[in-house]
Amino acid sequence: MKKVNLPQKICVVCNKPYAWRKKWEKNWNEVKYCSERCRRNKV
Ligand SMILES: [Zn+2]
Repeated sequence: MKKVNLPQKICVVCNKPYAWRKKWEKNWNEVKYCSERCRRNKV
């Protein structure tokens, strides 16, 4: 598995791209925010 081939998404709060992280491997499909901070700042 290549580590350069991680999936990416755009954060709905800050509109910045963020890459897959190990902690999201179980719920990547449900992740919408780049960080815990953005998750709390959702409008
Ligand atoms: Zn964000």
